[in-house]
Amino acid sequence: MSDQGSNIFLDAIKRLDSAAKHVDVDAEVLERLRYPKSILQVSIPVRMDDGSLKVFQGYRVRHDDTRGPTKGGIRFHPDVCIEEVQALAFWMTFKCAVVGIPFGGGKGGVIVDSKQLSRMELERLSRGFIGQVADFIGPETDIPAPDLYTNAMIMGWMMNEYSNIRRQRTPAVITGKPIELGGSLGRADATGRGAYYCIKQLEKVKGWLPQDVRVAVQGFGNAGQHVSRLLHADGYRIVAVSDSKGGLYKKAGLDIPRVIELKQQGYSIRDVYTTRSVSDCPKCGCEKCKCEHHQDVLGEIIDNKTLLELDVDMLIPAAMENQITADNAGKIRAGIIVEVANGPVTSDADQILTQQDVLVVPDILANAGGVTVSYFEWVQNRAGYYWDESDIHEKLQRIISREFSAIYGLMNNIQTDMRTAAYTHALNRINDAIRSQGTSLYFSPTHKD
Ligand code: NAD
Repeated sequence: MSDQGSNIFLDAIKRLDSAAKHVDVDAEVLERLRYPKSILQVSIPVRMDDGSLKVFQGYRVRHDDTRGPTKGGIRFHPDVCIEEVQALAFWMTFKCAVVGIPFGGGKGGVIVDSKQLSRMELERLSRGFIGQVADFIGPETDIPAPDLYTNAMIMGWMMNEYSNIRRQRTPAVITGKPIELGGSLGRADATGRGAYYCIKQLEKVKGWLPQDVRVAVQGFGNAGQHVSRLLHADGYRIVAVSDSKGGLYKKAGLDIPRVIELKQQGYSIRDVYTTRSVSDCPKCGCEKCKCEHHQDVLGEIIDNKTLLELDVDMLIPAAMENQITADNAGKIRAGIIVEVANGPVTSDADQILTQQDVLVVPDILANAGGVTVSYFEWVQNRAGYYWDESDIHEKLQRIISREFSAIYGLMNNIQTDMRTAAYTHALNRINDAIRSQGTSLYFSPTHKD
């Protein structure tokens, strides 16, 4: 068990305890939520292109399914560990309850540096993972989706493999698929769009003008690119973005469509991962070059640590967990943090940020757009009837805006931070579901109706 891994799950549970203070919750409901319902560990043998065999380790965790089948992404990353997957599954239980969709929480992961694999090795690994977990997942039990370093194409392979095993085409087993294979319109940008709708709600509350708001975005993958694109189109000043190799800063605001276009150039047709960083030179493609093309056309090169500590109004961590910790929380200058990544702020850092009056829009609300449109995809797959993109956007906006207002109002009513309010809001729904099956209070021999 890695230290980081064990802390991340314990950290997740801490949020449950702080929310429990504000909810009339049964002790046994809390006890149930402290443990995942089931954990599966698998070994996936993959024949590599050079003929050798490599065995990869993977996990699938179902945290709680009281409100519906478990739902959650599959992550391909070298740092995946069981505690991380448990924490991510726990967050999914609360995220689905925050937005009121009928799912519980699940998550999966494979320990792999997937960028080092060829496309065929990646396909074999993706299909191999499904081969090992096929009895654990299903449209009525557990429904995976993309997460870090997995995407629509990988979901398509996985759906196809599951359908081959079941000898039945089963699109509803997985979401985030290519549109052509039963994916939903509006799923690709749903996570970034959900965060954008949260920011539009904040805009109403705070009464600011978009052009006055300076934003830094850490992580320029699916979620980070879309939230940047939507905010930039509204006039927000995105002054910094970064990815795992490095970042860009421009005080006047970056040309986000151009940065996205350059990043996308790293893809050749049908590639799964881009080879380009936002910090690569647009002229020579070199990683280290600091020529006038960076300075004038794009911006100054910065590292990820610098990005987090920039003098901006809003910080959007959209990469990995544990990015803002007790070590750097005191150096954060943004007044608002919108957590697009899962778990980017640790609980120790939360306390420091609260003292500094930083408003944190928590991950279980800010990135819930992804699972909400995944729910729409599952509904469409089961109905065999597909909606227009405008329907998806409208339904997503209605859900995110409604839940944002409820949580923001609750935060003010119970005088707490927004994360505790979001957990309280979700715990109320989970508690009602678990309690409706009866708890010890109901089953006690002395109970009277
Ligand atoms: P992605 O793989 O498309 O992109 C991740 C990005 O983060 C890449 O640009 C990568 O280079 C960058 N990155 C990795 N390590 C970094 C570091 N240390 N510093 C800066 N950048 C770094 O992944 P994604 O789907 O955009 O997911 C990003 C985050 O959002 C994850 O925490 C994920 O769990 C969360 N999330 C994603 C979705 C979704 O639908 N995609 C839904 C909910 C939550």
